[in-house]
Amino acid sequence: MVEAGKLIVITGPMFSGKTTKLISEISKARKKNLRAVVLKSAIDTRYSRSDVVSHDGLKLPAMVLPDGEACIPVLRRIACDYDVIGIDEGHFWDGVPGLAAALDDLAFDSKIIYVSMLNRKNMGTSFDIGEKLLPLADHIYSLGAHCSQCGRKAAFTQRITNYRTGGKQKFVGGAGDYEPRCRTHFMRQKLVGQSSLAEPITASPKSAQKIRTKIPISPQTLPSP
Ligand SMILES: [Zn+2]
Repeated sequence: MVEAGKLIVITGPMFSGKTTKLISEISKARKKNLRAVVLKSAIDTRYSRSDVVSHDGLKLPAMVLPDGEACIPVLRRIACDYDVIGIDEGHFWDGVPGLAAALDDLAFDSKIIYVSMLNRKNMGTSFDIGEKLLPLADHIYSLGAHCSQCGRKAAFTQRITNYRTGGKQKFVGGAGDYEPRCRTHFMRQKLVGQSSLAEPITASPKSAQKIRTKIPISPQTLPSP
């Protein structure tokens, strides 16, 4: 029997296991002999250009989906050949008009769609793509990480390093550039590098040492992670 279409969002901060969950779901679909593919952004070259790789080292060969609006026709074309489509790091397509609706259409066309994406920008604000996609989802996995400062459940992603985008809009950071934080220990980016960061730093000598060695961040130069 052909499975019904579904739109499933896997969301949470960095280090919450989103990509691990995505890889697991794609692998399970393949074991059921469904045609399953995972797609990644062309700008996500953190660990590999051709694989989706989780922070804990799991990986799966991936097809590349173009940046911006060009992703939609490519997505539709790829979807013709697959039953299950996983999109890693969906926030890379933040602000692309029509993408959420296109994914919803594919689910109505009996495709099973998984999208893993950050729940918030590193400034603490929401992603446009998340605002559009979450209400359309059949199911949402809301994953949490452990706060780097107190160990409690973390729903925020704290940027802890400076960066230069070289004119690019998006910065793609790796494991050393971010930490999961709870709401208590999350510092909105405008405060990073200022005295108000002192309190959470002193809660963890190890993290304090790490943050003290980083260059303060200018709030005007902070795109989404
Ligand atoms: Zn905390």
